[in-house]
Amino acid sequence: EEGLKGGPDREEELQPRAPVVTVMGHVDHGKTSLLDALRKTDVVGGEAGGITQHIGAYQVKLPSDNRITFIDTPGHAAFTEMRSRGATVTDIVILVVAADDSVMNQTVEAINHAKAAGVPIIVAINKCDKPDANPDRVRQELLNYGVIVEEMGGEDLAVEVSAINREGLDKLEEAILLQAEILELKANPDRPGEGSVIEAKLEKGRGPVATVLVQRGTLRQGDIFVAGSEWGRVRALINDRGEQVKEAGPSEPVEVLGLQGTPKAGDEFVVVENEQRAREISEFRQEQRRQKEIAASGRGSLEQMLSRIKEGEVKEMPLVVKADVQGSLEAIIGALEKMGNEEVRARVLHAGVGGISESDVTLAGASDAIIVAFNVRANAKAREVAKRDGVDIRYYSVIYNVVDDVKAALEGMLSPVAQENFIGYAEIRQVFSISKVGKVAGCRVTEGVVKRGAGVRLLRDNVVVYEGHLKTLKRFKDEVKEVKEGYECGIALENFNDIREGDVLECYETQEVSRVLS
Ligand code: GDP
Repeated sequence: EEGLKGGPDREEELQPRAPVVTVMGHVDHGKTSLLDALRKTDVVGGEAGGITQHIGAYQVKLPSDNRITFIDTPGHAAFTEMRSRGATVTDIVILVVAADDSVMNQTVEAINHAKAAGVPIIVAINKCDKPDANPDRVRQELLNYGVIVEEMGGEDLAVEVSAINREGLDKLEEAILLQAEILELKANPDRPGEGSVIEAKLEKGRGPVATVLVQRGTLRQGDIFVAGSEWGRVRALINDRGEQVKEAGPSEPVEVLGLQGTPKAGDEFVVVENEQRAREISEFRQEQRRQKEIAASGRGSLEQMLSRIKEGEVKEMPLVVKADVQGSLEAIIGALEKMGNEEVRARVLHAGVGGISESDVTLAGASDAIIVAFNVRANAKAREVAKRDGVDIRYYSVIYNVVDDVKAALEGMLSPVAQENFIGYAEIRQVFSISKVGKVAGCRVTEGVVKRGAGVRLLRDNVVVYEGHLKTLKRFKDEVKEVKEGYECGIALENFNDIREGDVLECYETQEVSRVLS
């Protein structure tokens, strides 16, 4: 982009900057409570209960005069969503693990999101005030996921805390500063401001408002800047205490007023010399975004990955693997890890049991990974994000096909597997027991068409619980060949009686295809 971002800084221009920290972890393990407690450790406004303003990030000043910036939107979806737009904002991830609950599935997700981004992890073992707290178990279980804390002979820092009793917070902050020192975080404050948008919204009476994190240089009132494909002139800067300020330097979060439009979280912002230039760049970027969308449509992550393998650009093929049960997950990972050659190998970024979530898709999107789905499906939100970001989800029901496909992909090809076309979905609304017939379900076709003779699967919470064929397909009293979207029908499954309300029927046809990359 014609050298929009300023050139490199000289070593002597660099000054230490505050570390930027994101808090992640399983739901209810105390992310929000910990962020609140840490905020109160600020020597300026925290304890006094000064006007605190939620602007998406805040900075605390410690008694030692050191500063730490916290991103105030916990959760790895936000973390990875930003990264998928190219923003590396976070220097350190705080992994919150409740001492009474230990490592849970979202803990593992968070670890894998942090690792995929190459960001160091500090473990906050929270709820240590609870009588059933067991911090040893947390340290032990983290070993299974490659987080080896000091007490276990590793190098990852771990601190026992209680967000509620506000215990151990100083130790946690010390650990952050120690990690920051290792990272040698520096920036040049004496240049035009650059950074990333943390969040942005349109507010009544204020217009578009963006919280930005300055990463380099200084942002000042009156500056003309571009944020993503929007631009503006800084009308006002408001800090995390709700005070109007004249400027913000490296690692400082600040709310910016004066934008013409609303940018997106993860967009980069940069100060430019004049309005003319700001308009040019924002128009250029809008056009670029349109081109990208056109290029991405019909060309998913798999094809992009394969051409990059062919060009010799990548040495690893990143994968996210989800399966119906632990046994098949382990078998697949075992097979994948053995695969590959000197040039390129498979790398499993994240693996888990259960349906595909939005978090799986954003992780894959940010890491140019392909999702391998074994006997599981994506929920609606995940499907939407996958479509938007061009993330390929490959569905399988035979382990051999997973192995074969990935093997072929590593050799730069798409294998000619029997590909399935999902032709329809139906929602199970009511289940009746009929003597001599068994379970009969009343359903409604929600998508496509349900056909007799086609293959069917029954999905429960996006996991396959049955695979086979329809025994009957009825409209009112008549046996029919097919039922289309929007219509009700009655079904029974061959050799299966455990059909339940809320299950989803998937109907598919198999087709032998051979796709070759040009
Ligand atoms: P989040 O979902 O990770 O953001 O978790 P929250 O911060 O909302 O906390 C979930 C629940 O755990 C709340 O009821 C908190 O009061 C409680 N909690 C959080 N931290 C602690 C702690 O250190 N000790 C105890 N006993 N409870 C805590």
